[in-house]
Amino acid sequence: MIPVKDELLHSCSWQRELAQAVTGLPELMRRLELPVPAVEPEEGGFPLRVPVGYVARMERGNPRDPLLLQVLPRAAEGRAVAGFRTDPVGDGASMVAPGVIHKYRGRVLLIASGACAIHCRYCFRRHFPYAAANPRRGEWKDALAYIAADPGIEEVILSGGDPLLLADEALARLSAGLRQIPHLRRLRIHTRLPVVLPSRVDDGLLQWLRGCGLQTVMVIHLNHPNELDDEVRCALAELATAGVTLLNQSVLLRGVNDELEVLSRLSEELFASGVMPYYLHLLDKVAGAAHFDVSEGSAISLVTELRHRLPGYLVPRLVREQEGAPAKVPVC
Ligand SMILES: *Cc1c(COP(=O)(O)O)cnc(C)c1O
Ligand code: SF4
Repeated sequence: MIPVKDELLHSCSWQRELAQAVTGLPELMRRLELPVPAVEPEEGGFPLRVPVGYVARMERGNPRDPLLLQVLPRAAEGRAVAGFRTDPVGDGASMVAPGVIHKYRGRVLLIASGACAIHCRYCFRRHFPYAAANPRRGEWKDALAYIAADPGIEEVILSGGDPLLLADEALARLSAGLRQIPHLRRLRIHTRLPVVLPSRVDDGLLQWLRGCGLQTVMVIHLNHPNELDDEVRCALAELATAGVTLLNQSVLLRGVNDELEVLSRLSEELFASGVMPYYLHLLDKVAGAAHFDVSEGSAISLVTELRHRLPGYLVPRLVREQEGAPAKVPVC
């Protein structure tokens, strides 16, 4: 057992780091030794947010840094582009109970938290009505009842926002409820925290993962090899040691990772850290993110070349989310 005092100290440290995230454009630019661009923050829009540890992995003086581009608000976000909508994947229509999205057979997705440690400018949920979707803090009654009533559901996916922003106690309450449902086999967690706030992978979280009573899969979300540093590698190694199967999904982003060299290095370095490449997503056409779009043709040539260069198991599946489809749609 870990003494309670140490555990408190420990669990506070990621929360403190979370609270200290950079939220001002001038501060971000000052840290990177770059001039402050003139971007009017959109009223009630998607604010800048990036943990200090993630900023530390950006290259000073480089306005095209691939990590910076993922979080930097740009004037192009304000432009309306045909085909780019606020709910591009139709999640709103698949909400079957507060916070429960049931689109695919055998799996349901729980919006476990509306918050994120980082705000990625390409996020397809940037306009998602979290307040309406989110069950009140710790109120999982309706979600659990829905899952319990459908014996066809074998896997619960915790998503968000970022589900690992829930405190350990809230995760424990949720998994205790899930454990009571006999037809559940797997718990899957979609999270960016091991990448953007690796201190979240602390003793409390590892203990919860070891003891949650379901087979656990974690899909991390890493887009560029520069996002991997020693602290992230260490967090991933600890997750693997705790028995978690680690997969990665990326979004193909113009100017960030739409190069053969980058994608190839990404797969190699993920594997060296015990993570299997899973999906490479075409950008969901969300309003405000059109400047990240890579055409389907370029995406297909990139992945075809990747297949000629890497062992098959290191090539992620190129997929697109299509409203109404029974699964993610393979592109090539
Ligand atoms: C992506 C997604 C899943 C999981 O799909 P997999 O192909 O199993 O990874 C489940 N539910 C929803 C709503 C999703 O968007
Ligand atoms: S949901 Fe994922 S992609 Fe969207 S802002 Fe949060 S961490 Fe980024």
